[in-house]
Amino acid sequence: MRYISALQRSHSTFASTRGGVVCIDVSEAMARTGGRGASGWDMRQIMSWIDEQLAARGIRDPRVLDAMRRVPRHAFVPDDSQALAYTDRALPIGNGQTISQPYMVAAMTQALMLAGTEHALEIGTGSGYQAAILCELTRLVITIERRPELAELARRTLAALGYTNVQVIVGDGTMGYAAAAPFDAILVAAGAPRIPESLKQQLSGGGGRLVIPIGTAEQQQLTLVVRDGDRFKESVLGGCVFVPLVGSEGWYE
Ligand code: SAH
Repeated sequence: MRYISALQRSHSTFASTRGGVVCIDVSEAMARTGGRGASGWDMRQIMSWIDEQLAARGIRDPRVLDAMRRVPRHAFVPDDSQALAYTDRALPIGNGQTISQPYMVAAMTQALMLAGTEHALEIGTGSGYQAAILCELTRLVITIERRPELAELARRTLAALGYTNVQVIVGDGTMGYAAAAPFDAILVAAGAPRIPESLKQQLSGGGGRLVIPIGTAEQQQLTLVVRDGDRFKESVLGGCVFVPLVGSEGWYE
């Protein structure tokens, strides 16, 4: 670890611990993730990728853009897809699952209107990439994955990058995580047939936000739910395609 200035940080580092003082440089981030990262990408390419693909497509929250610049996506991508790590596509991560498309990660994160103090829940850890983005922007992240082998790899990648404000749980996330509820923000990274009632009930009463893809197994609408006491205001943000949310309040296996 080394301490560097904010200016250097924005140009030469991939990741920071929470608080943004201690940073990890590119080579260190790669070494810590078992040598992943032989993709040939350099920081300039990544910065222009962020600006061209995300900012230009409507991601305006500067904190979200900054987090997208800081988290090294290649660390979450399997070796055989390294060359595609900074393209705007979902990529296979094994077990028939995918790491989400960066634009969708940014759009969902932006919809949660995070201020930095939130207690957040993610359903569908997958590679852990979205969880890392949430770690950068909230106080504490609980993320649930139903496949133990994906949960374990994500846990290791997040730890290697220095994230300490995240807990990876194995289980059925459609029921949320009552032990740690309520949550200020809930992000569901898999497509559901309807909004799980448990997740609504675990939103904090004063403005808790839930973002979730709702629709068929093939195609969904990204839906935002904002709780105000007993009222739940729903709005549709746009079309999306996610792998199915499988569980007691999701799809049957
Ligand atoms: N957020 C991930 C991508 C998620 S892909 C990333 O950044 O890489 C969707 C994930 O949801 C898959 O890993 C799948 O196994 C998981 N999933 C599906 N149904 C689930 C459920 N009921 N509870 C927890 N995880 C679930």
